[in-house]
Amino acid sequence: MEITFTGKRALVTGAGKGIGRATAIALVRCGAEVIAVTRTKADLDSLLQEVQCPSIRPVCVDLSDWDATATALKDIGLVDLLVNNAGCAKLQPFLEVTQDQFDMSFNVNVKGALHVAQIVARGMKSRGSGGSIVNVSSQAAQCAFKDHAVYCATKGALDMLTRVMALELGPYQIRVNSVNPTVVMTDMGKIGWSDPEKAKTMTSRIPLGKFAEVEDVVNSILFLLSDKSAMTNGVTLPVDGGALAC
Ligand code: NAP
Repeated sequence: MEITFTGKRALVTGAGKGIGRATAIALVRCGAEVIAVTRTKADLDSLLQEVQCPSIRPVCVDLSDWDATATALKDIGLVDLLVNNAGCAKLQPFLEVTQDQFDMSFNVNVKGALHVAQIVARGMKSRGSGGSIVNVSSQAAQCAFKDHAVYCATKGALDMLTRVMALELGPYQIRVNSVNPTVVMTDMGKIGWSDPEKAKTMTSRIPLGKFAEVEDVVNSILFLLSDKSAMTNGVTLPVDGGALAC
């Protein structure tokens, strides 16, 4: 099954590292023009260096800042495809969760995703040609993990946001879905799962017996963005080797 995005414009948040960076590169390779959004300029510089292609446009902004985001994205023009990928995971035992950690996590993982989607979906609606949005959620939206109280709560909220967006934006032919990966060994994945003993407790809960690769997640994102999933709307797609099935 070949997927092409020639003539499409995509916006990817958190495009500096990990899953977002790989998604931005894959979209360029599939012919899309990509607006790459993240907060560390050095990552954007190295992304441009790696891609060596004029179809990538960098935007440097901290998505936890509502006003800065509105300013940074006000001239992005028309966007057909959005990948709301930026996210953070700061782990704390439930009894030690702080207000700062709670606010920061919800600001990026939920409020930032909602705001970027509003900006993009308003453009899609006024243009009348539909679009596709993929929110990068997590297995943690539907499964409890020790020390992940806030992270799990943000991803649970993001899944519900996906469903309501699918409901409200569907009439404009804008599809909204999420991918819900298990652990992927990016910088973020390493925070929680580098310890081999701890990793084993997780892989033993996954029927396929292994973590996901970045490419596994990117392939599911590309499928949901593409017309190959034209009738799929409002789903939260596990990319978890069967973990959520158990
Ligand atoms: P990652 O390697 O840490 O990359 C996250 C990217 O998001 C970085 O470029 C980061 O920039 C950016 N970002 C974070 N906060 C931002 C903000 N406030 N404004 C702008 N950009 C921001 O993480 P990843 O593993 O690729 O995760 C990507 C997504 O997948 C996240 O939503 C995560 O929750 C989800 N996910 C990850 C896993 C996993 O095990 N890795 C599993 C399930 C779901 P900076 O580095 O500059 O902060």
